[in-house]
Amino acid sequence: MKRIIFLLFSLVFLTFVQAQDLQYVKAINHKLCSKSYHGRGYVKHGDALAAKLVAKEFKKAGLKGFTENYYQPYDFDINTFPGKIIVKADGVRLIAGKDFVVSLSSPGLSGEFPLIWVPDSIATPEQLVAFVETSGKKDGFLVLTQKFKKLYGTEIPWGRGAILLEDKQPWWHVSNGRHVGHSVWLKINKHKLPKTTQSIQIDFDNRFIEHYQTQNVAGYVEGMAVKDTFLVFTAHYDHLGMMGNKAFFPGSSDNASGTSMILDLARYFTSHPPKYSVAFILFSGEEVGLMGSSYLADHPLFPLNKIKLLINLDMIGTGSEGITVVNGKVFNNLFQKMVAINDEHHYLPEVKARGEACNSDHCPFYKKGVKAIFIYTRGKEYLEYHSVTDSHVPYTKYKNFFGLITDLTESL
Ligand SMILES: [Zn+2]
Repeated sequence: MKRIIFLLFSLVFLTFVQAQDLQYVKAINHKLCSKSYHGRGYVKHGDALAAKLVAKEFKKAGLKGFTENYYQPYDFDINTFPGKIIVKADGVRLIAGKDFVVSLSSPGLSGEFPLIWVPDSIATPEQLVAFVETSGKKDGFLVLTQKFKKLYGTEIPWGRGAILLEDKQPWWHVSNGRHVGHSVWLKINKHKLPKTTQSIQIDFDNRFIEHYQTQNVAGYVEGMAVKDTFLVFTAHYDHLGMMGNKAFFPGSSDNASGTSMILDLARYFTSHPPKYSVAFILFSGEEVGLMGSSYLADHPLFPLNKIKLLINLDMIGTGSEGITVVNGKVFNNLFQKMVAINDEHHYLPEVKARGEACNSDHCPFYKKGVKAIFIYTRGKEYLEYHSVTDSHVPYTKYKNFFGLITDLTESL
């Protein structure tokens, strides 16, 4: 009897393990978000370290490669702040990443600069120009409220730069880092910059790297019946990297969550050989501006017209409120199929459709006529985004989401 129970237990356990492996997914996420991966950006080659891990896991899973080592190399120009990054408000040091972020289009700068607090009465860019011209204060840092957020990162004709005040810990972006301008822009948490502050002390260097060498990582499982047609799973493995030599952005939600799920799917499909071939592609350069996916869409590893469906996963670690399917409104039949599967199995509270949005790596493929959707999970249980504290995504509905995705691929 004991033996039978043991056998039964093993069988259940085995089925469970083969279905998905949350423990594996969490371990991969944890690793990718550790300090030694430097936020998977372009300081200290964080991207290359993450690519190496992905390729190692592809190999372990038994994926075939389109290239010898799964890599598709390419390059782009990128600005970086690899050294110390010091910002002080009237002598009080602010913490990089927590209290402030620097626009990646900023040049290096060193010195002390008076602050020019723009009064609340100034509401339009025209009024701002008039204010600076008549005030005679042209040599400092403008301090602007959210009314002027559209100016962030742009070239301004006065002084050395500007500060945009945020209500909370600011979000960092690197999508404007492919060139260096003349103006230094900072976002500062307004609670860290009292209105009485008179001057700001700045000291940091930038390093602009031309033709930074990076890579996409791609592998596949051969289909049982239709080998030349592909289901494609994509995600970006890069994140924002480091801002200065201390602040690193772990990117647990964005997008170690999608990366780890792709690796889990790769393991699943090697042990559940599908009808069609399944490709798994992990891009770099997403945060810089969909660089990896654009490159691959322009230099495909197999004909794009052989893609039956492309599913892009970006920020999939929550789910208490369900998922959103970008392009769900475009590909309505597919979307209805997802809803039907979800209704039958009660996987997620809601499967919601959205129209087109060029907000992740599905976009360059969709633009070339590929049937491509982008799925992200929703839930207020974890709201970290582009922050130094995005380090611990909860994977609330991971098992159910995995079930929905694999059921969907089996139904095609
Ligand atoms: Zn992002």
